[in-house]
Amino acid sequence: MTVKLATLKNFIDGKAVESTSTETRTIVSPATGEELFQAPESSQEDMDKAVEAARRAQPAWEAKSPWERAKICHEIADAIDRNIEKLAHMQTMEQGKPYKEESIPDMEETAENFRIAAEDVKRMETSIIPSEDVNKRIFTFRKAKGVYACIIPWNFPPLMLAEFAAPGIAAGNTMIFKPSEWTPGTISLLMEILEEETNLPPGVLNVVYGSGPAGQYLVEHDGVDAIGFIGSHNTAETIIRSAGFKPSIIEASGNGPTIVCADADLDRAAEAAVFGAFFCAGQVCCATARVVVVESVHDAFVEKVVEEAKKWKLGDPFDDDTTVGAMNNEPNAQKMDAHVKDAVEKGARVLVGGERQAGMPTNLYYQPTVIDQVGLDTLINKHETFGPIVPIITVQDDEEAIQVANDTYLGLQSAVFTKSSARAYKYMNQLQTGNVVINDTSDYWEAHVPFGAAAGTRTGWGRIGGRYTMLDMTDLRTVTWDFSE
Ligand code: NAD
Repeated sequence: MTVKLATLKNFIDGKAVESTSTETRTIVSPATGEELFQAPESSQEDMDKAVEAARRAQPAWEAKSPWERAKICHEIADAIDRNIEKLAHMQTMEQGKPYKEESIPDMEETAENFRIAAEDVKRMETSIIPSEDVNKRIFTFRKAKGVYACIIPWNFPPLMLAEFAAPGIAAGNTMIFKPSEWTPGTISLLMEILEEETNLPPGVLNVVYGSGPAGQYLVEHDGVDAIGFIGSHNTAETIIRSAGFKPSIIEASGNGPTIVCADADLDRAAEAAVFGAFFCAGQVCCATARVVVVESVHDAFVEKVVEEAKKWKLGDPFDDDTTVGAMNNEPNAQKMDAHVKDAVEKGARVLVGGERQAGMPTNLYYQPTVIDQVGLDTLINKHETFGPIVPIITVQDDEEAIQVANDTYLGLQSAVFTKSSARAYKYMNQLQTGNVVINDTSDYWEAHVPFGAAAGTRTGWGRIGGRYTMLDMTDLRTVTWDFSE
């Protein structure tokens, strides 16, 4: 017997709406292999309606006081908290990550983003600027950019939505989201919850499902004022070209190095590097993508890494003791296969794992992997891998470590392990990444902290995180007011 799968509805103008398109995509759980539901490949008509709804809603939404918008953000956060298990369950089903260790905390952070935005917007003060003319007062205020189209990835579905939506709507923008075609379900559930349990006005947050072309249509839409993008650098480059004069926040790929200096606390460095590589099966923009270790401590460090790596348990993401779940999708798992194969062909040695785990419900369970003697000419060193892998590259000294770390076109987040403040200071200044972590995992962030790329790389621009996103999502308007009679 074939069971007819439900088709997700877009969320437009405050309600769930069937897509006018008949084209759908079946979402299969990477964790269980089960067919979960279908998502529409939204039509241009659907997207036009979403843009119209957002445009209609924007002036009245911006005209509300920041306190009224903040109240709605608090309602959203509370609704997420009330439904946290339901949301986390859906995320683990469609994304593959461990339920207890990751999906529950992801939902807590999603709610936290709305709380932070609710409080930040009340404190977005600006300035009065002295004037040459005694009759004039010049001041600035922050004005919402208008209607945002936001395109987001599959590694943290509702959290990535919240990173734009919370500061975006708190500041008075209205928004259309296009979630990843791999993970539309948790966001669909979230919108159902918001419709039922909050007073979010129609048109403020709209969601349309679809793949790349849907995103592209929104980016180019005349009714859209600004763009938010989180995803790979290849897509980012297409979006940047299509966006023309639309202002954008671009948060793209990382290839983050973790540097282990000669004076590092090796236990701490090993634990942090393994965490950074295996958390979310390595599918994090600021994952520990390369470990650059100084030769004098290489052997001792590698021994500790192997010991740490063996503590991580690959398995059913719904088991409480599972720490590595399924990878999200086959193209990404194939990238991991190709990167490991390439490194081994070029002389690297697999110390732990190194292949997909047989006997699992799907073929997306990749063994947590440690690979040593990774060469500089490898795909792993040059590009983002996005899988559960600790690749170890050996260098002679700090100078070479900085050179290797910076020899990439991506520059998001790095980590350095050293007991010397002087050394940490040097790395902090010389690493070509927007964020540098000293003595902790590269997979560290907090919701209110600015997070983004270093200029000169292809990771993007703008900042995600609390009030910094709100600054990016508003224009500074300057008012010159002449008081003369
Ligand atoms: P992706 O670029 O394949 O897709 C991202 C989104 O873009 C999806 O919604 C997709 O449908 C859409 N898209 C694809 N083509 C498009 C087009 N031509 N126009 C408009 N939209 C289009 O990325 P992914 O595989 O979903 O996500 C993984 C990537 O995201 C990794 O590279 C990771 O580093 C990055 N990421 C970055 C951050 C950050 O803050 N810097 C955070 C999370 C993930």
